[in-house]
Amino acid sequence: MARYSGPVCRQCRREKLKLYLKGDRCYSDKCAYERRAFPPGQHGQARMRKISDYAIQLREKQKVRRMYGMLEGQFKRAFQQAEREKGVTGENLLSLLERRLDNTIFRLGFANSRNQARQVVRHNHILVNGKKVNIPSYTVSVNDEISIKEKSKKVESIADSLEAVVRRGVPNWLELDKDNFKGSVKSLPDRQEITMPIQEQLIVELYSK
Ligand code: SF4
Repeated sequence: MARYSGPVCRQCRREKLKLYLKGDRCYSDKCAYERRAFPPGQHGQARMRKISDYAIQLREKQKVRRMYGMLEGQFKRAFQQAEREKGVTGENLLSLLERRLDNTIFRLGFANSRNQARQVVRHNHILVNGKKVNIPSYTVSVNDEISIKEKSKKVESIADSLEAVVRRGVPNWLELDKDNFKGSVKSLPDRQEITMPIQEQLIVELYSK
């Protein structure tokens, strides 16, 4: 399935949640969800029908998949990997999603959104442990050092994003050295640190059918 290329804010309205897909705009009063907090389309404001358990589980999966900007197949493969790992599958899944390189770049503040982070990675601006990595789905591990290439430190969008990271804060599992454009993975992300309202159990139930 191709990557979604329609109006980005529509996805937040569809999931009835701010997914923070557009960087600075998401924190301003221009946010479409702040203005119209109901699903898009002709029936968006219609009275809520009773929805099935399956529909609830599906919506939760779509919400998380959109949040991390992943394709259907990529998301399913991440779930299958989470199932193979020791521990609670839902928590494993969230840990794997958080540790994607594009998400890590976003969390460290080298980009204002995960979409922008994906571009930063694709455009060869990132080094992991001193080696070029341009795969957004790359999974970072504990003690990995993620840095911006020397030449890329001048890229305006990266420098601007770093200034804005103060507003979001950097999660405890990461450490940012803002002056040197680098960060490191201190530990695996803890479930408590993922503060977005996610009910991962619903996703496990969906894929277990
Ligand atoms: Fe979602 Fe951001 Fe658009 Fe608001 S501005 S609707 S949070 S993508």
